[in-house]
Amino acid sequence: MDAQPNSPEARDILYHLHAYTNARKHQETGPMIIEKGEGIYVEDSNGKRYIEAMAGLWSVGVGFSEQRLVDAAMRQMSKLPFYHNFGHKGHSPLIDLAEKLVKMAPVPMSKAFFTNSGSEANDTAMKMIWYRSNALGQPQRKKIISRKRGYHGVTIASASLTGLPNNQISFDLPIANVLHTSSPHYWREALPGESEEQFSTRLANELEQMILAEGPETIAAFFGEPVMGAGGVVVPPAGYWEKIQAVLNKYGILLVADEVICGFGRTGEMFGSQTFGMKPDIMVMSKQISSSYLPISALLINDRVFEPLADESNRIGTFGHGFTGGGHPVAAAVALENLNIIEERDLVSNAREVGAHMQKRLRELASHELVGEVRGIGLIAAVELVADKATKAPWGQPGALGGLANGLLQQNGVISRNMGDALAFCPPLIITKEQVDTLVDALKVSLDAAAAQVR
Ligand code: PLP
Repeated sequence: MDAQPNSPEARDILYHLHAYTNARKHQETGPMIIEKGEGIYVEDSNGKRYIEAMAGLWSVGVGFSEQRLVDAAMRQMSKLPFYHNFGHKGHSPLIDLAEKLVKMAPVPMSKAFFTNSGSEANDTAMKMIWYRSNALGQPQRKKIISRKRGYHGVTIASASLTGLPNNQISFDLPIANVLHTSSPHYWREALPGESEEQFSTRLANELEQMILAEGPETIAAFFGEPVMGAGGVVVPPAGYWEKIQAVLNKYGILLVADEVICGFGRTGEMFGSQTFGMKPDIMVMSKQISSSYLPISALLINDRVFEPLADESNRIGTFGHGFTGGGHPVAAAVALENLNIIEERDLVSNAREVGAHMQKRLRELASHELVGEVRGIGLIAAVELVADKATKAPWGQPGALGGLANGLLQQNGVISRNMGDALAFCPPLIITKEQVDTLVDALKVSLDAAAAQVR
């Protein structure tokens, strides 16, 4: 790019290494700089406005200009800008938030523990699970099963749980004791003629075979997102979670629901666990908990986890884990206000109703020559593009068509993200049906333009 010397673009290239970015290519393309946000829209440094159809990173539930969250932050910042919860100390926003989360949980939960990101929360979950196994006198029970295409973060442990190549190649991951079972993507993975139920049964059998081969007494937990997000928005097929949970229960294996994307309304229920009948022992939550106005994440643990953990901390003298910023009072105050807004404005119902509209409108594109599959639930969806609908073959390199369409869509005023060839849509929970129509119209125009380029 022709960045003016000393412009923000030029200084970005000089000084800033971006997350999830091709660092070499960035030296040519430079950044897209977002300056401000309002409702479901953001505006770039050229004054161009976009529908933020990813809610930032699947996270800005209440939109980009919620004054109540600003006020909540200011109030708490003036009163107590920082305190922690180490060594029996505490503060009111965190106690209020812990109580609220435990009471909101769809299954009986015992305690909330606070961290700063989804990755840290999953890392913490893994440590708690190992600690628990030791507490129970089962030191061999340390293996964790997650899924190919699952996403649980980028720290050493959580990137190991993640089942995506880019998070592991050249990072020397995954670490030991993490196993990956198949992704539940029916459209891609099912055998010819296999029904959704049959596919789910096959995956549950495969999981059981893995457990038996490893030794059931060595398996501690299974991690899964109710709906996979970053792996391409994979909605589980019929009967999937019921069958998986039957296997886990048979062998006394804990279930961790990674609600980092699904939590707080995304699927049209407060939690994805409700939508799919999951009964987790640990729930991991972040993102929409504070609409990402400030970083905060939380784990809810039930008594199956808390009781042995408490015993072990008593034996050792402390639960030797915690982050300086974990449960930060300003972030906790913002999260509380954000959850109040989600409840008062019934944004979960909005996600259900406007989400149904979005799913219907997107499915109208299923007949488009480039569309292989449209999938999703509530206000989360993906449109997967193919060059050949019959063989599901990509256009050139996997991801090339997704990248092309994503770029065109951005030119047409909508920010999405392509996970390979799947364009993801996860707009703020406040989106209206009219705004969804604008989004889908822009997508249609962009797909037509992409088709013209590739044919
Ligand atoms: N778990 C899920 C399901 C996620 O989608 C993400 C992030 O996208 C994470 C964990 C990691 O969260 P963070 O980026 O806050 O570390």
